Amino acid sequence: MIEHFGFKDAVDVFLVAVLLYYSYRLVKISGMKPLFMGILVFLVIWVLVSQVFNMMLLGAIMDKFTDVGMILLIILFQDEIRYFLMSLGSKRGWKFVSNLFAPNNKKNKDTSHITAIVLACMNMSRAKTGALIVIQEEIQLGLYEQTGEIINADVSSRLIENIFFKNSPLHDGAMIIVDRKIKAAGCILPVSQNPNIPKQMGLRHRAGLGVSQETDAKVVIVSEETGRITFAKEGRLKSNVLPEELQQLLLGE
Ligand code: ATP
Ligand code: MG
Repeated sequence: MIEHFGFKDAVDVFLVAVLLYYSYRLVKISGMKPLFMGILVFLVIWVLVSQVFNMMLLGAIMDKFTDVGMILLIILFQDEIRYFLMSLGSKRGWKFVSNLFAPNNKKNKDTSHITAIVLACMNMSRAKTGALIVIQEEIQLGLYEQTGEIINADVSSRLIENIFFKNSPLHDGAMIIVDRKIKAAGCILPVSQNPNIPKQMGLRHRAGLGVSQETDAKVVIVSEETGRITFAKEGRLKSNVLPEELQQLLLGE
């Protein structure tokens, strides 16, 4: 069998390795690593039982499990599969290819909306006003915008602060920013089920983390309890972010 191992097989093995690595990274982000490892252990035992040791009875029981395994995997990892397919279909996923052909294809350099967001976060942090701001990247957030109030206004620090002001009707929920516009406010986001989130973080942080797991959006959370600013992207939280750092994170790719 080894002597027939050609270039095509090497590429095949390489692609499977990439797929496994990507799946592992995705489940690590969403806190599903123990489940992923459990499935890997099950597969190793299954191969040993039914292929190596030929144990008929146990092998037959495990075969039954693997028959429905694909459906089970789709149900268990539906969020991760959705994120994978969305990033595969988004322009961002293929950016390295488009950069090869048009390396000077730079984005619009106007960053005044980022400065406005940072300024608003600084003020809200000082005043301990809770806030949850989601900035759309490639993956559309239309589904979440529908859960709130559509605003469609230019980004300004005073408007952001006004919306999150404690007695404002729209202060609850998340603000969504799309293409330098405050698209919506009072939006409901998916809450992360990640068990590794620090206990002191409640629903605002969990909702911010949740949307960063399911999309490629950048998320800024200001804590009402501590005034601390947290940044979330791709399922990772960065706590205690300072204003200059926040500016860099929001400007970065
Ligand atoms: P803080 O540090 O500001 O107290 P927290 O992470 O402890 O934040 P909570 O105290 O539970 O979170 O904050 C509750 C607020 O979070 C709600 O009033 C609401 O504005 C917001 N929130 C809760 N769930 C969601 C959700 N699914 N989507 C958007 N916003 C949410
Ligand atoms: Mg709280």
